[in-house]
Amino acid sequence: MAKYILVMDQGTTGSRGVIYDEKGKKLVYDYEEYEQFFPHSGWWEQSGNAVWDVTLRTAQNAVKKAGIDPKDIACLGITNQRETTTIWDKATGEPIYNTIVWGCRRGVDICNDLIEKGYNDTVNKKTGLVIDPTYSASKIRWILDNVAHAQERAEAGELLFGNIDSWLIYKLTKGKVHAEDYSNAARTMLFNAHELVWDDELLEIFNVPKCILPEVKPSVGIFGYTDPEFFGVEIPIAGVAGDQSAALFGQACFDVGSAKNTYGTSAVPLMYTGDVAPETEKGLLTVAWGKDGKVKYSMGASILIAGQVIQWLRDKVNIFENAADSEAMAESIPDNGGLFFVPAFTGLGAPHWNPGARGMMIGITAGTTKEQMARAALESMAYQTRDLLEEMEKNAGIKLKELKVDGGAAQNDFLMQFQADILNCDVVRPKDTETTALGACYLAGLGVGIFKDEEELKGLWEAEKVFHPQMDAETREKLYAQWCKAVEKSKDWL
Ligand code: ADP
Repeated sequence: MAKYILVMDQGTTGSRGVIYDEKGKKLVYDYEEYEQFFPHSGWWEQSGNAVWDVTLRTAQNAVKKAGIDPKDIACLGITNQRETTTIWDKATGEPIYNTIVWGCRRGVDICNDLIEKGYNDTVNKKTGLVIDPTYSASKIRWILDNVAHAQERAEAGELLFGNIDSWLIYKLTKGKVHAEDYSNAARTMLFNAHELVWDDELLEIFNVPKCILPEVKPSVGIFGYTDPEFFGVEIPIAGVAGDQSAALFGQACFDVGSAKNTYGTSAVPLMYTGDVAPETEKGLLTVAWGKDGKVKYSMGASILIAGQVIQWLRDKVNIFENAADSEAMAESIPDNGGLFFVPAFTGLGAPHWNPGARGMMIGITAGTTKEQMARAALESMAYQTRDLLEEMEKNAGIKLKELKVDGGAAQNDFLMQFQADILNCDVVRPKDTETTALGACYLAGLGVGIFKDEEELKGLWEAEKVFHPQMDAETREKLYAQWCKAVEKSKDWL
């Protein structure tokens, strides 16, 4: 019986093809990057064809490396960078413009115009987001406005839009299936997160013809079959979710109030809220995934500068050689010596939304040392995480249960212990920290019945280390109050 699970983990920088066994154990992977294009300041593109080529190749290479017969692959799972937008010609399958990446800001004017016209409330109520160029809608609008005859052709049904999951599914099925999953659709700003349909009013606001949009399907279940050209056999595409949703799933966050945080260059905390779609004016709602005809919700946002603060100390201030050295430095002193570091290098994102803030260290005295700087930098990741999680707790009326962690900086034991202390909850680091790919493996395995349900997955999921809170309440709240004061002082500098 087919027992392997193939995953395409399509990230912003590159794609990873991964093979898992029927217990969700990673066997092998292959990874390759694609070229990034920055045609103007603030613009960011990739080649849709290159993304497809690299993603297919790394999956094929993973199958080769594993030395398995493709007949033994039970299913394919896909996870992808969210919001990223491709529009292609329905007849030829050729993109009509480069893929516009989530971080591209070219939709700023389109968004500002809609905010000025007073549409933010409508968008917020229907999608749980706030109008912002990150989401797909303004990227679609830009392509339809700027590629010759695109609007006309879209209205005539000659073009198709997709997030990357949809684009890969279309290519893998040779154009037979044009679909995407709920978690991806919910990041377009065109999808009604409560009624679970493409929203006619939102489509009108953005002037996007419905016929270009993919069918929206549950994250678990058969989307279609890969054409035999690619792996020699047809493989069912059985699980699909955007990267942050997949990571939440791969962290087995299935209990209301359990959350994950990915500590990379930036950090992305996400809290599982189950059947509840909390109202959030700060735009924190996201559809976690769809399964068994229903969706589950989550709340989350990005901390713009997380691990990058460590890179900055390493590369620009040169106080240590390797990011990992920050751990020993921070642990060599008993406390931060009153030093707080607000890394608002590009302003503050959610929940502060203060673009005019700039980075700041405060509490410097003649005795301040580089060890204290390293410690204050690490602590800033933990404080920023609490800022966001507290906002989510408030919006959702749900108490944080535990925090599962991944990403490069989650390897820092000092940071993880401090995070547990400042949140006053357990911080749990898994054995397999590639949680995005693991989530796609779990989703696809459920889709074909390799896994029965979330309970079984919880049993398969393995923790590597649990950090229990050790700090007394008085110290914790005093430190956090000082952090909040520092954040206030960093605001509106520009
Ligand atoms: P991304 O996927 O965003 O590139 P990664 O998950 O690979 O990020 O994590 C890299 C980031 O984590 C870098 O910003 C780096 O400074 C930081 N980092 C890596 N290892 C450590 C460590 N041991 N302690 C603190 N920060 C670290």
